[in-house]
Amino acid sequence: MYFVETRGNDGIRESKINFSDAILNPSASFGGLYVPESLPTLDIAFLRKHIDSSYKELAADFLNSFEIDIEPSIIEQALNRYDDFDDPTNPIPVVKIEDDCFVSELYHGQTRAFKDMALQPFGYILSRLAQERGENYLIMAATSGDTGPATLETFKNQPNIKVACLYPDGGTSDVQRLQMVTENAANLKVIGVKGNFDDTQNSLKSLLASEEFKAELESRDIKLSAANSVNFGRIIFQIIYHIHSYLELVRKGEINIGDPIYITVPSGNFGNALGGYYAKKAGLPIEKILIASNINNILADWINTGEYDLRDRELVLTQSPAMDILKSSNIERVMYDKFGADRTKELFESLDESARFSLTADELALLQEDFIATYSDDNAGEEVIAHYAKEGYIMDPHTATCIKAYRDLRDSPLPTIIYSTAEWTKFSTTVSKALGHKVESDLEALEWVSKDQGAVVPDMINKLFGRDIKHKVVVETTEIKEEMLKFL
Ligand SMILES: *Cc1c(COP(=O)(O)O)cnc(C)c1O
Repeated sequence: MYFVETRGNDGIRESKINFSDAILNPSASFGGLYVPESLPTLDIAFLRKHIDSSYKELAADFLNSFEIDIEPSIIEQALNRYDDFDDPTNPIPVVKIEDDCFVSELYHGQTRAFKDMALQPFGYILSRLAQERGENYLIMAATSGDTGPATLETFKNQPNIKVACLYPDGGTSDVQRLQMVTENAANLKVIGVKGNFDDTQNSLKSLLASEEFKAELESRDIKLSAANSVNFGRIIFQIIYHIHSYLELVRKGEINIGDPIYITVPSGNFGNALGGYYAKKAGLPIEKILIASNINNILADWINTGEYDLRDRELVLTQSPAMDILKSSNIERVMYDKFGADRTKELFESLDESARFSLTADELALLQEDFIATYSDDNAGEEVIAHYAKEGYIMDPHTATCIKAYRDLRDSPLPTIIYSTAEWTKFSTTVSKALGHKVESDLEALEWVSKDQGAVVPDMINKLFGRDIKHKVVVETTEIKEEMLKFL
């Protein structure tokens, strides 16, 4: 299987590359992304074959049918990372919360957010490739909370990889910050930045663009890669859990193989939704993909009107911070798939030059064949959390945004899968507030909610509060480069 570029080829890069090259060097011509030339088939026979498979068996066979240039033994080792999830035999439980509504819990991994689903196996593969080629890579991440911990965790002590992670000081939850600053490994660096997430991300971008910094990396023989969802190495693992969740409904007797379902995805950078789109396109019987946004509802506007307009939009900080995004990377892959490279290049040039693009009526109709969207605000989210807590189910504020989409968007009464992207323990102050008890700190919230609801706080969260702080550095944006050079 070869990978091609969403904005066409610049005549300098190779026009078709292997999976391994696409994940080591994820930036394509003209600022585009790599996409697979085609997809494997997920027909009824494939689904039948895997009705009794474990998650790892399903994943291995799916990756095999993708024909990527990674040795089966390396894929097997990578998938063994799921053995550290709560239940290695079923890393993703699917829980019924309404007669026709099921929550697929993607957060049972190492850092309690769904980022582990893809970053865990991806991190292993990237390190193995770097070792085989005798190359050293630096991964730099700016995080608003979940990507940082998951990236550090997957690469800690992995040969040939260094990770530097920038977070906005005061801009993450206590749990998220502790997950980063207590990580203890020589190949990891965590830097708090005085400023908000935008400041942090912008300083990372200017550092990566700086000729001086590039020269420093070159002199140390270090290459740059990326671990965010612009990297197809993450997307490929995000197709699999959509298949698994569908099969879980079959196993529970809720549907028969071949029956259509809806899926509902709380979206930011659109990696999770893109995985669902590829699964649907490959043949998984998904009627429509319901996109849930928070008040930063640019994705809902795009899907409902065909307009993607950044002018006059300010990022609003919400209780679902992982969805506080205005420039969503992975919509580009959907547009490439539907409209081709020339049109994608044109649309994204328009976005760069005039901060907007608009689809034609025909293009919008094509987009709406697969997607429908809505958004909800923090108040609606709190009501949802409180409502389901009364029914005995605790969800985090990102998952809560899905309920409005589930209630409002379906035009037939089909079973619906909602993706739960974080455990409540990562956003415990919001959950506590939704349940009518305002607290100041995560520790207080964790204690109160677990007592009030009889909910379990996993060991890895409890232990965070007693661990040594290894990364104490908090700097001005201007001092980041110096910190980085010290680390390298
Ligand atoms: C990253 C994240 C999201 C958004 O997922 P995308 O794939 O970027 O759309 C939603 N919820 C949580 C908790 C996340 O960490």
